[in-house]
Amino acid sequence: MHPPMTVNTKSEPNGPFGIVAAMEEELRAVLAQMPDAQVVSAAGRAYWCGHLHGHSVVAVLSRIGKVAAATTTTALLERFRARALLFTGAAGGLGDGVRVGDLVIAETLLQHDMDASPLFARHEVPLYGRSRFTTDPNLRRALARACATVLADAPRLLGQAAMAEFRIRTPAMHHGLIVSGDRFVCASAESDRLRAELPDALAVEMEGAAVAQVCSDYQVPFAVVRVISDRADAAAHTDFQRFIAEVASGYSAAIVETLLSALPQPPSPT
Ligand code: SAH
Repeated sequence: MHPPMTVNTKSEPNGPFGIVAAMEEELRAVLAQMPDAQVVSAAGRAYWCGHLHGHSVVAVLSRIGKVAAATTTTALLERFRARALLFTGAAGGLGDGVRVGDLVIAETLLQHDMDASPLFARHEVPLYGRSRFTTDPNLRRALARACATVLADAPRLLGQAAMAEFRIRTPAMHHGLIVSGDRFVCASAESDRLRAELPDALAVEMEGAAVAQVCSDYQVPFAVVRVISDRADAAAHTDFQRFIAEVASGYSAAIVETLLSALPQPPSPT
């Protein structure tokens, strides 16, 4: 067998900043801030290329589930050479005190439905030797600062009516493990099982760990933030629908905008 050819898969330092939104409402709110955005089709998806706070940006909808998110991320990195990536979306709260309206920033992500046991340990991604993928510490810190700014402005951004409707008092920020799987978790029996299996999991969603695995393969820095839309229980479905329509998109767009306004510009090409 010939040795494999080496291909540099590291991110392009001058490439655009990638924004992957899980929901159409979020993407629309981000695009409203990118009036110069032009659409480019790739992998059956619409990638919006434009500028935000002076940064070259590509924004795209991930669609739902791990495979859709992995395809979206792969095309973003291969075709558009994104230098870094932010994923935004909603999630069900699992951790104690992780409430509707809170923000969760991923330190690590794991696929809760990955199970190749007894060949590999439960949750381990076969042949990667690990189950958890870590987000970029610098991007995560910048994201936390942006989220703190946005949270301080939550009453204005969300509006008193929405805050009262969803019983949001003082929304909080959490940092830690987000778990992903191809299931909308909407039963207490299932969220209890996840809490028992993964006691440090803060939130459950359907894409983040797939994005994390692809970014780790390509060695591209990435961060993930989720707005808690429900508590992954029997009320999750109705809570989720109302929350997305009324609250999530404004939140996500404000986080994206605040983050990009604070990020340094990439080095200019020489
Ligand atoms: N748009 C569809 C389905 C959305 S699926 C609808 O209107 O019903 C839920 C989306 O939000 C996914 O992108 C997932 O990542 C996230 N999510 C929010 N709450 C979740 C939960 N309780 N379990 C799993 N994913 C959740």
